[in-house]
Order: sequence, then structure tokens, then C-alpha cells
Amino acid sequence: MAAPWRDVVRDAAAVREAAAVAVDAALLAGVLMRTGEQPRASDVVNYAPFTLLPSAVPRALFEQAYAVQQDFNLLVDAISRNKEFLEQTLASTIKVDDFTARLFRIYMQVLEEGLAQTVFLGINRSDYMFDCGVDGTAALKQIEINTIAASFGGLTSRTADVHRLVLKVLGKTEEASRLLPNNPSKGLALGIAKAWELYGSQSAVVMFLVEEIQRNIFDQRCVELELWNRNIRVIRKRFRDVFEKGSLDDTRRLYIDGQEVAVVYYREGYVPQTYDQQNWEARLLLERSRAVKCPDIATQLAGTKKVQQELSRPGTLEKLLPGHPEAVARVRATFAGLYSLDEGEEGDKIAATAIADPERFVLKPQREGGGNNLYGEELRQVLEKIKDSPERTSYILMDKIKPQPALNYLLRAHSPLQVSECISELGIFGVYVRQGQEMVLNKAAGHLLRTKAIEHADGGVAAGVAVLDTPYVV
Ligand code: ADP
Ligand code: MG
Repeated sequence: MAAPWRDVVRDAAAVREAAAVAVDAALLAGVLMRTGEQPRASDVVNYAPFTLLPSAVPRALFEQAYAVQQDFNLLVDAISRNKEFLEQTLASTIKVDDFTARLFRIYMQVLEEGLAQTVFLGINRSDYMFDCGVDGTAALKQIEINTIAASFGGLTSRTADVHRLVLKVLGKTEEASRLLPNNPSKGLALGIAKAWELYGSQSAVVMFLVEEIQRNIFDQRCVELELWNRNIRVIRKRFRDVFEKGSLDDTRRLYIDGQEVAVVYYREGYVPQTYDQQNWEARLLLERSRAVKCPDIATQLAGTKKVQQELSRPGTLEKLLPGHPEAVARVRATFAGLYSLDEGEEGDKIAATAIADPERFVLKPQREGGGNNLYGEELRQVLEKIKDSPERTSYILMDKIKPQPALNYLLRAHSPLQVSECISELGIFGVYVRQGQEMVLNKAAGHLLRTKAIEHADGGVAAGVAVLDTPYVV
């Protein structure tokens, strides 16, 4: 891939000057996070980590990622409505993975009772890396799709301005003018507002379901402010609040503190540690309600790694998206090799291959949020240990994507300024709203570029590895 900043990246004085401007510009623009030391305080904040320089992204791959997003929206929605597919796909997983099993139990319980919800809102982010082939050409390969609590659509709306300024400081005014506008928070809010409107109660609120400790609150506030601008009332509650004060009326309208809730936007609820018995009960209450859940539990299950792996089987996409051969082809073109570790010959074979050559693969459990995957020697050891046990089934294997690194500086509070070899992950935000059988909104809502130093196998900004970036489309 092109290295557009070759002439400045090693110029220590220029880099130092640009970094000082960049940090102040990030603070001014609101690229903020609460600090690790005082994660509950908004009066002690710092900038969210970001790259000094925007990273080069090949235009064709950038456009390909946007072009396939509506297809992914349709696909996720189709999976969420396909009980047979979810049941079959997750059957082996829920025998060994307690967290997925509990989600699945709620899913079945809600279906048995009959859905009260009639309006559906999906906000997802499909993440990709640029795999570098032997001939040096890069290909767009999906890492995963996040169907719950996909974050950084807010903060990333503000990073392009910072990078534009940095380029100007470095004497690259013409390049600065080429950075694309990007505002996912507006697009996400548009979807939430549409769902709120279709729910059809002027006095009902949008509830952000948030974590106990909310370090990334400013990212959420960006979306929240867009809703207030549309005169839609937003409240922020935790599972615990729902357990204590939430209730359903006899038509399963959801109330909390006496307020009717039209939309529940989850920014929490995707890791097992969130749930004690009370919080599971709160989750069930929300899922049973008429409120628009973003996502509903079926859509959360559609985002599991096991589902991702099953999608790559020949014929599966065709079944899920009948009559859409072009969408199927666009989606499939982004898939890397994905392999089931279910018990049986197929799983035995790929497990043996991965043990023999662990550098080729990533071993993934059914977890979200970064820091859970296994690589290299650790992958080999774990797989060796579980290869003959049913526990193997709770993981999937994926081909490791190998992008071409580029030099950049990762700006982090209290960290020295040093050059790193970096790789990037591009995310495209998708938003859709369905009322009954009819898709009323289906959009790509913007992008997120995250960049990390190559010595980290796993990623994630919240996990402290990756940082915010802006694509410089070449
Ligand atoms: P999570 O749900 O924890 O975000 P991901 O599948 O996105 O799980 O993996 C986390 C990180 O691990 C990614 O952001 C990426 O940096 C790295 N990663 C995941 N899959 C691959 C892969 N196939 N090849 C290379 N890196 C990967
Ligand atoms: Mg991820």
C-alpha cells in the first residue's frame, strides 16, 4: 500500500510540532474519553488515543466496503428472522458455551410468548482488514460484524477535522482537502429517530442502556445530542435500574420511572460479566417488551462468531438471501477462510492443521469486545489441550489476515512519541429499520478506521490496543 507521508514521518521536529497541535485540536473537537484513573468523572478527561497521521486506504477497497453494507444489513436482518437457521447453527455452541446458551434461552422464551415488538432497528459495524496477497495486491477481508453496541461512531465523526489540521501543519494542504467528511453519529441517530417515530408515541423516550463504568460516554453523547436536536428525549439507564424500576403494562409497553420507552439502544450487554441473576431478568423484561430493541436478542445472536463461520459454508448465503445473487456475491467476496471446530472429521482435520501451522490462523471464542482471541503459540497450546474435548466447539478458526504495515505515531496520553509499524481495520456502520415485513430504511452510515501497532495481535480501542484514525483514500 502507498506510504503517502514518507517525507515527514521521520522528521522529528515536524512530528513533534504536529503532535502538539493534534492533541489540542482533538481536545477542542471533543475526541474525548474519561480516564482510566477516574472512569466515573467527566471533569477529568483526556483525549481518546488517535494516530498522528491519517492512514492510506485503497479507494477500490474503501468503496467495496461501502457498497456491500446494505447487503450486510439485509443479511443480518434475515438471520435474525430465521429461527431454524439460528437453532441449527448455534446448537453445538450452546451445549458448551454458557453465555450464548443463556442468550439463546431468552430468544426462545420470547418467541414462545410471541413478539410484542413490531418495529426493528439494526445498528451494526462491519469490520475489515486489507489482506496483502503474495503479489502485493490488497483484498478486503471481513474480520467480523458487530450487531450490538458497535462503538466509536461518535468520536470518529470528529477525528477527520483533527487530521486535516495535522496535514496542514505538515505542509500538506492539498492532501488535507482530500480527507472525506464522515459523520456516523448522525446516521445512527437517524435510524434511532425513525424507529422512535414508527413506535408512535410522542411522549415515549429513547433509553441508552449503558455500562456501570462509562469511560466512552462522550462517544455515546454524540449520538444522544443528535437525538435531542430532533427533540427526542434520551435517558441513560443501567441493567440494574431496569431490574429495580422497569415494568411492562398489559400490552407489554415498557416503563421505567413512569416514562414509556420507545427504543432501547444497548451500549452494554455483550459480555458475560455484565450479567448477574438480576441483570438477566432485566434483559428478559426488555426483550419481552414492545419497545424497539437495538438490537433485539435474535440480532445479537446473528452477530456471533459461530454464525459468521456458518455463513461461509457453500449455499448458506443463497438460502438466507434468496433472489439476491448479486448481494450474495458481494458479501461472499469479503469472507476470509472460516472453519468449524464442531466434533467430527471436518473439525478434527482443521484442528490438526492449525496445531501444525498456528501462524496461519486465529482461534476465536464466542466473545466480543477485544482481547479474547488466541494466536500463534498460545493458539497451538490451547487447541492441543481441547482438541479431543467438546469444549473445542465453543471456538471457531479463521484465516489470519496479513495487512501491509505502514509507519505512524500512536498518540496516547502519558505515552512517549515514537514511530510504530501499524496496521488498520476499517469499519462501516450500517443502519436499518424494519416495520413488520417492510424495510423502511437501509443505509451505510459512515466509517471508522482503527489502527494498531503490529506487535499486538488483537485489537480494540476500548481494549487499549488500537487508536482512532482517518482513512486517506488513495
Ligand atoms: P472482538 O469481538 O473481540 O472485537 P474480533 O473478531 O473483531 O473480535 O477480533 C479482535 C481483533 O483481533 C480485531 O480487531 C483484529 O485486530 C484481530 N483479528 C481478528 N480476526 C483476525 C484475523 N482473521 N486476522 C488478523 N487479525 C484478526
Ligand atoms: Mg472486533
